Amino acid sequence: MSTILFNEIVFGPVKSRRLGVSLGVNLLPRFGKWCNFDCIYCECGFNKDGKEDKKLPSVVEVSQSLAEKLINLDKTIGRIDTITFSGNGEPTMHPNFAEIISIALELRDKYAKEAKVSVLTNGSRIGIKDVEDALLRVDNAIIKIDSAFDSSVQIIDRPQFDYSIEKIITNLLPFKGRFVLQTMFLRGRFDGELFDNTTDREVKAWYEVVKKTEPREIMMYTIDRETPAQGLEKVTIEQMNRIAAPLIDVGFSITISG
Ligand code: SF4
Repeated sequence: MSTILFNEIVFGPVKSRRLGVSLGVNLLPRFGKWCNFDCIYCECGFNKDGKEDKKLPSVVEVSQSLAEKLINLDKTIGRIDTITFSGNGEPTMHPNFAEIISIALELRDKYAKEAKVSVLTNGSRIGIKDVEDALLRVDNAIIKIDSAFDSSVQIIDRPQFDYSIEKIITNLLPFKGRFVLQTMFLRGRFDGELFDNTTDREVKAWYEVVKKTEPREIMMYTIDRETPAQGLEKVTIEQMNRIAAPLIDVGFSITISG
């Protein structure tokens, strides 16, 4: 197994399949992973493999690192398409997430007006008011829902708390037309359990989630790198195109990455 941890607070830019030239911000420990999901496909590895480093960057450290990169953008990186909060886990778990988002938006307005601010999140903390408000203020709140069934989420995403898809849908009400839905399509066997979120039953239920939550855009993707769990299978672009077609027909904007 080979996984990737981001050892800097601000990293990149990286050329992202879905976001273009992206300057990453890691609000999690630099040498360990911290997430309240434990997805079998997580590029940062399993939670149990990265527990030693628990130190989160302070607001000042994040602010200084981001300002430094953005001020020197022309001399170093050049143009960026987005400042993306992702990194070694779930960014909204940082206790000062909302304050850091405010700072990032200010710095973006000052030094990189054309760049978007994006957050990759599993959506678990949207019920918390200041997290919700912060996610409503960024350009791209990219929120993960990998299945409409709690039982499948338990196998694929392995939430470390009492997860409920119904609760996530309710929490997403203020986000109608304002968020990007991100879904990983895959199949395989893990811990003796078979899973496949491309079956007719899964896809039909996922369509219902899409219709209820009304994302502004949908990002469909599949495994791209080595995963901590073995035995996971990629889904083809053709399969994802077939899944996307009925939603495109009724006007949803969808990007597909294989
Ligand atoms: S939600 Fe993201 S960071 Fe957390 S385990 Fe899943 S893929 Fe990894």
